[in-house]
Amino acid sequence: MERISWNEYFMAQSHLLALRSTCERLSVGATIVRDKRIIAGGYNGSVSGSVHCVDEGCYIIDGHCVRTIHAEINALLQCSKFGVPTDGAEIYVTHFPCVHCCKSIIQSGIQKVYYAEDYKNHPYAIQLFKEAGVDTEKVEVNPVELGDRSAEKTDFVYQLLNRLQQTSNQEDFAELERQANKLFSSTTS
Ligand SMILES: [Zn+2]
Ligand SMILES: [Zn+2]
Repeated sequence: MERISWNEYFMAQSHLLALRSTCERLSVGATIVRDKRIIAGGYNGSVSGSVHCVDEGCYIIDGHCVRTIHAEINALLQCSKFGVPTDGAEIYVTHFPCVHCCKSIIQSGIQKVYYAEDYKNHPYAIQLFKEAGVDTEKVEVNPVELGDRSAEKTDFVYQLLNRLQQTSNQEDFAELERQANKLFSSTTS
């Protein structure tokens, strides 16, 4: 089995965190990393102890949900809560940061932003990152590759078929092979 890269690993962590989001508008996850170690993580959700958008609906003012704290801010606040330095760290976010998060990311000393999906990509955020010398890089993670180990499963089934070919009658084998080919036709390419 192939090892996943650090970028895939940290971004997968952010995708997992996004599954904890409580806002209906967008599910975002953020992971802060220093020296290849995860130091904090966050997702977009309400203030601790408050109601969730998923239960009460979003609280929209001027087109934005004001109930939630963005994932990046939550991850940064986790660092401040526990006294973990963010200077020189990197952040992995599922979506390109908004202008507010962009400013906080820069101000906290984070040096690099990895993001999985373009999301409005506000020109002012792009400009601010550039001025601050904070590098942004798009990292795409294929959830199928990470998630269901389809390549391994396919390999395993074909190994079983190979053994069967040697021991079973040829008619049975041909039928099983036909079924396997049908099942895996989309994953063996
Ligand atoms: Zn909301
Ligand atoms: Zn934001």
